[in-house]
Amino acid sequence: MSTEQQGFDGFDVLIVAIPPAQALDLLPDDIPFTTELAAVKMSSCWTVMGISDSEVPLEYDALRVMRDSPLAWIARDGSKPGKSESNAWVLQATAAWSADHFEESPDTVREALMDEFARLTAAKLPAVRFADTQRWKYALAQPAEIPIGCYWDAAQQLCVCGDWCIDGKIEGAFLSGAAAAGHILRIDNQPQAATLF
Ligand SMILES: Cc1cc2nc3c(=O)[nH]c(=O)nc-3n(C[C@H](O)[C@H](O)[C@H](O)COP(=O)(O)OP(=O)(O)OC[C@H]3O[C@@H](n4cnc5c(N)ncnc54)[C@H](O)[C@@H]3O)c2cc1C
Repeated sequence: MSTEQQGFDGFDVLIVAIPPAQALDLLPDDIPFTTELAAVKMSSCWTVMGISDSEVPLEYDALRVMRDSPLAWIARDGSKPGKSESNAWVLQATAAWSADHFEESPDTVREALMDEFARLTAAKLPAVRFADTQRWKYALAQPAEIPIGCYWDAAQQLCVCGDWCIDGKIEGAFLSGAAAAGHILRIDNQPQAATLF
């Protein structure tokens, strides 16, 4: 399927696992949960990953910033499960700061967030060898009043899912995918694994 087609056929089941605004662009207008998808508000997040040659001299692996600051979350990337040891740190800006600086250049954002990292931690940070600055447009959904695992239309056998249905973390993505699988497994004459993947 494509934005030009604005329709879909030839599938047992269609699973659309992308942010709701992008799903709405892609899907035809007659899906039953257009209003619900349009109502999901997502905030953006400027994110910087900085890698230095030597260790950042901090005794902790992560910092959730509770005071007024451009930064919301700072994490030593190598401390995450399954990640190899490295001197990479990830800095994530708040939704408010990201919105206010949405049109800023990546270079300007990187400088501002790295400066704030140094200010907050009061550490003598080593020189950064490599930095990647990303504007993550659809980063976090506002929590729904009634959390929904995924959107499912039994008539068209269409599922729209993603972390934004539950919580903007990997656990939310997993649980939303599991909810989608639950619907598919309950279909009469459900598609076999061989035709699903
Ligand atoms: C920098 C960063 C750090 C993070 N750190 C953590 C962490 O430490 N712990 C944690 O739990 N979570 C973390 N997250 C959040 C985690 O990555 C997300 O919760 C998770 O990836 C969401 O999975 P998803 O499958 O719902 O969506 P996504 O992973 O966003 O997948 C959606 C995919 O759809 C694609 N797509 C969009 N539109 C279209 C289209 N029209 N056609 C085709 N493809 C399309 C996108 O390119 C993307 O690949 C982090 C996210 C970022 C950006």
